Amino acid sequence: MIGYGPTGATLANLLGARGWRVDAFDRAPDVYAQPRAVHFDDEIMRLWQQLDIVQPLSPALTEVRGMDMLNADGQMIFQYTAPPSPGPLGWPLGFMFYQPDVERALRAAALRYPAVRAHLGVEVTAVEATPEGNAVVTTLGAGGPEEWRARVAVGCCGARSLTRASMGVSLFDYGAHQPWIVLDLLFPTDPGLPAVTVQYCDPRRPSTYVPMPGLRRRFEIMLMPGDDVATATSEAQIARWLERWVAPGSYTIERAAVYTFHCLVAERWRQGPLVIAGDAAHQMPPFLGQGLCSGARDAANLAWKLDMVLRGTADASVLDTYQEEREAHVRTLIETDMYLGGIIQTTDPAVARERDRLALSNGAPTSLTPEPPPIGGSLCSNGPRDRRPFPQPVAADGTRFDASLGDGFALVGTIAPSMKATRVLEALGARHVPTIPDALRSWFEEVGARGVVVRPDRVVLAAVADTNALDHALAPVAHYLKPGALRS
Ligand SMILES: Cc1cc2nc3c(=O)[nH]c(=O)nc-3n(C[C@H](O)[C@H](O)[C@H](O)COP(=O)(O)OP(=O)(O)OC[C@H]3O[C@@H](n4cnc5c(N)ncnc54)[C@H](O)[C@@H]3O)c2cc1C
Repeated sequence: MIGYGPTGATLANLLGARGWRVDAFDRAPDVYAQPRAVHFDDEIMRLWQQLDIVQPLSPALTEVRGMDMLNADGQMIFQYTAPPSPGPLGWPLGFMFYQPDVERALRAAALRYPAVRAHLGVEVTAVEATPEGNAVVTTLGAGGPEEWRARVAVGCCGARSLTRASMGVSLFDYGAHQPWIVLDLLFPTDPGLPAVTVQYCDPRRPSTYVPMPGLRRRFEIMLMPGDDVATATSEAQIARWLERWVAPGSYTIERAAVYTFHCLVAERWRQGPLVIAGDAAHQMPPFLGQGLCSGARDAANLAWKLDMVLRGTADASVLDTYQEEREAHVRTLIETDMYLGGIIQTTDPAVARERDRLALSNGAPTSLTPEPPPIGGSLCSNGPRDRRPFPQPVAADGTRFDASLGDGFALVGTIAPSMKATRVLEALGARHVPTIPDALRSWFEEVGARGVVVRPDRVVLAAVADTNALDHALAPVAHYLKPGALRS
């Protein structure tokens, strides 16, 4: 694995749990000390639940309360209010966090698997595929250059990915490149700032305030034409940027940096034994807080497919479904990010006035109700809830339903599989959970299902009404299974 950031460390855990030897290389000697991401959603918390890092992380997390979007007059034009918790996936819909905490927790969790080895302070200098279809990774560490052979090399090496470059892959560019100043502040006591994220959609200077956990707060200030980039992060200028919110000297500046947010998607995510994931495969602005989340989803999608291929259960071509599924999801998020960015980053006063008029046309701020997108590809069926995460009810004693599903495929419901379906489910190692918890009955009724096939990444493969429909729904996965994997 090239890169041991959040994407790489998530994948290392998921592969380690399945018993695979993972060598993870990172040029940095420790986790990156400054946060970039500040938000993750309920789907990612559910993944942390699977990786068993919720307990060490919980004290350092705060629940997302909402987001207010204000116009130049300070009037609310759009609003997102977090719904009651837990949400359908068994957790609050979002969390604010301190990225180094999550990266440390992921790395500590990976230590449980002796076959996962982190090589820190080691630069990867080359990544290649051999004619036989294996990967060769060349590294440079304290002991000099070394060559490593592996069945697969996954490039989780961030925006300037060496793996992506080695694959000769170009980036699809949505053409949105906006520089912002990112300021992370630490206060000695509660600064009394809002408990929700605030987008100041002021065409004179779009800005963002983010309540991070504890006494940390983030401000993001959009750079405008004519700004002097060289002095934009000087202490004096920071005091000027922040004077409308906080007094100079009342905070310590933990980090001040200019980031240019891009909207990019790699044209190809896999080439033989070389695969890319996370920022190496896609980049998006932080308006939805989904970049790190997307890398974690890549890891969850890739892990079970790699496991099946390495085990010899599935043909390597199943890895092509990784890009089909994940790219569709990522592109929808990027396009939504661009839409939101368009609202926030408006600098034309006339356009901003029209935006405000439309947003307030019902006499109240427009309510934002984010709807997570479905994954793409042709592995999953096309029912109304397929391709999306399966809900996770929480029992009265606090037990979450995923504990019943295990870490692999599961068939939930009263449906009796045919002989054919049974063979496929056995090859997938699926667990049958015949009892539908009361909290899921309305979900089953709404989709008219008696059975649901849930994938290891908790995505609904198919919700089916009868035995024939189950046979049909399993056919796309069965297509990738090697004949030897199926009991005769
Ligand atoms: C200001 C800002 C705010 C953000 N807010 C959010 C948010 O709220 N929510 C969210 O989900 N996302 C957010 N993001 C995005 C998020 O930070 C990234 O998507 C995420 O960190 C990407 O993780 P990654 O593991 O794919 O890559 P990275 O975090 O970039 O990790 C890549 C790793 O690979 C290593 N590496 C690279 N090349 C080599 C090499 N040749 N040899 C050895 N090691 C190598 C690097 O040292 C690094 O450790 C934000 C980003 C920014 C900039």
